[in-house]
Amino acid sequence: MKIYFASSNTHKKEEMSRLLGVSLTTPKDIGLDFSPIEDGSSFIENSMIKAKALYDLIKSPVIADDSGLCVTSLLGKPGIHTARFGYDELGENITSKDQYMLLLEKMKGERNRDAAFVCALTLILDENRIFTIQEKVDGKIANSPFGEGGFGYDPIFEIEGMNKTVAELQREEKDLFSHRGRATRLLKKLLEELCV
Ligand code: IMP
Repeated sequence: MKIYFASSNTHKKEEMSRLLGVSLTTPKDIGLDFSPIEDGSSFIENSMIKAKALYDLIKSPVIADDSGLCVTSLLGKPGIHTARFGYDELGENITSKDQYMLLLEKMKGERNRDAAFVCALTLILDENRIFTIQEKVDGKIANSPFGEGGFGYDPIFEIEGMNKTVAELQREEKDLFSHRGRATRLLKKLLEELCV
């Protein structure tokens, strides 16, 4: 069965496809301009908004991912605003490196480095078959960036118990422990159970 992925983030698509073992189709792959307004108040709500917006357009099975970094000393921020973190201060054309450097700057001198990466997934098979999953991985914000792999905030996030940032891990290691890896393994079981 063809499954659509409600995202324009190629890194997420690559990770999800690998984790699910299926090739996902994005709106961009079919020439669709897709940028729903993510104005929910939680990861689950935003993943639902993205999934429903795409489902309404194509009426075929859809998966959406909404994810972000919650930093304890910043009272859970940037949280659902992780993708837009720094836009107010630095403008909307900043790179993910600008974003994680800004986050490090805000945490300068902060001893509590605790953080978690959260991933909410929504699967819509039809109007009345809607499933959501949310998982997380606990970790710490590094003192400075390390590593070349992954994407986004991976160079500054260390999974609990590992003395490396996610950007220093092999892809398979990230898949095993990450927020998306954990959520997607559950989604895979659900798809198997549903015989999709
Ligand atoms: P979303 O696309 O609205 O869900 O925004 C997710 C934000 O979290 C973006 O800034 C991503 O770069 C970041 N993000 C999500 N997952 C990861 C990850 O696995 N590693 C690093 N950054 C991530």
